[in-house]
Amino acid sequence: MTEIHAEVLVIGGGPGGYTAAYRAADLGKKVVLIERYPVIGGVCLNVGCIPSKALLHMAHIIHEVDEVEHHGISYGKPNFDLDKIRSWKESVTKTLNTGLAGLVKQRKITLVHGVASFKSANSVTVESDEGSQIITFDNAIIAAGSKPTKIPVFPNDDPRLWDSTDALDLKEIPKKLLVVGGGIIGLEMATVYHALGSDISIVELMDQVIPGCDSDLVRPLFKRIKKQYSHIWLKTKVEEIKSLKKGLKVTFSGENAPEPAFFDAVLIAVGRQPNGLSIGADKAGVNVDDRGFISVDDQQRTNVDHVFAIGDIVGNPMLAHKAVHEGKIAAEVISGLKVGFDALTIPSVAYTDPEVAWMGLTENEAKKQGIEYDKGSFPWAASGRSLSMGRNEGLTKILCEKETGKILGAGMVGSNAGELVAETVFALEMGADAEDISLSIHPHPTLSETFAFAAEMITGTITDLYVKKK
Ligand code: NAD
Repeated sequence: MTEIHAEVLVIGGGPGGYTAAYRAADLGKKVVLIERYPVIGGVCLNVGCIPSKALLHMAHIIHEVDEVEHHGISYGKPNFDLDKIRSWKESVTKTLNTGLAGLVKQRKITLVHGVASFKSANSVTVESDEGSQIITFDNAIIAAGSKPTKIPVFPNDDPRLWDSTDALDLKEIPKKLLVVGGGIIGLEMATVYHALGSDISIVELMDQVIPGCDSDLVRPLFKRIKKQYSHIWLKTKVEEIKSLKKGLKVTFSGENAPEPAFFDAVLIAVGRQPNGLSIGADKAGVNVDDRGFISVDDQQRTNVDHVFAIGDIVGNPMLAHKAVHEGKIAAEVISGLKVGFDALTIPSVAYTDPEVAWMGLTENEAKKQGIEYDKGSFPWAASGRSLSMGRNEGLTKILCEKETGKILGAGMVGSNAGELVAETVFALEMGADAEDISLSIHPHPTLSETFAFAAEMITGTITDLYVKKK
């Protein structure tokens, strides 16, 4: 058994883990990064954000081609070569894997492949096909991520019951696909399989899809997918799934529950669970709650002074950009910099069609907390850019503090909403008010100007719409 020592040991090579490792190395630390899979990049790069975006890009093209038929251009029915689509998607991932491996080498980080488990407060064992290895450390950063939530009573060994990884594998196009969970994963995968020709049904426990988002931002998406998909059952739960030869027989409950129905595949997308219970954290004295989450302070420090944790394992939202930000903080704190997590918001994006994105305070939260706000809402039906893209359903919304006019939150639904939300995050971080935003000259015609128009709805200077004076 070989033994190596790290000044900074990072467990997990996802976006949070590799960022922490790179930053610590850049700050002069001797870093060891442990990853259980043969490549780094984690769920996000290998079986999450990146492959799903590659497939969503393809879905987008299929839909666009469909829609230009109404404008006088037709191409005929598409043919799908699943092997080719899959290998293109894998080539995207591979390019990024190779890039990340190069960055590990350039920074002289020791990359160890295997499964790490704490042995004590200053050591881990790493198990791999080659055997066992002990690594001792001065500081550790736990970045071990999360896994899809499984519902134990379902027939999880039936290959027709999918999690997000199975859905991204693109092994087949089921005739009838049921998506359990109308959250971001469920809706993104529904977009892909609908484009490929599956008949889609969605079942969601709550009274709207993407329950964390304001209903006015979700409505345009809901209106569109309601027409595209066979069923969207809200306030409905899956009670039972039976593996039968004819298909997966699904029984539902709830006020909108349909009769039991057969599906060729069922995707379970009801959230993710942190991996905190499978890393032997107790041996290091690190507290993990019953669900597998590890609590940290604003410097990403656990209850053990020299052990830090970042990403999905420390709590929601489980988003790569949150993990990356936290990874940098942990590495910098360990290296003696005086930093902490003080980001004002972590933006969310659903890469559906239309996309939905939001950041800062939602209107639901503002109402719940009794915060007084002004709201500006600009419909994209009045945006020349959106109409020239053949789309009129979008909306940009901004919430500003009543007393100061400072932006509190914003969101948009429409093409490229995921790109547009970035400007609103910047405005929030810079403490901009509605006037700052409305007086910043936005290029015309762009979708970005809808953010300024929404602010003008608050300042009362809007000219692109007629608003009757109160
Ligand atoms: P989620 O929590 O976003 O959505 C799960 C949905 O399932 C919720 O709407 C919930 O009400 C519903 N649900 C829960 N139990 C149910 C049941 N028994 N029957 C029917 N519905 C049920 O989880 P997700 O979509 O699985 O995503 C997991 C994590 O990954 C999230 O944190 C998400 O933000 C993240 N993610 C982000 C992106 C992105 O940023 N674009 C993409 C994919 C995943």
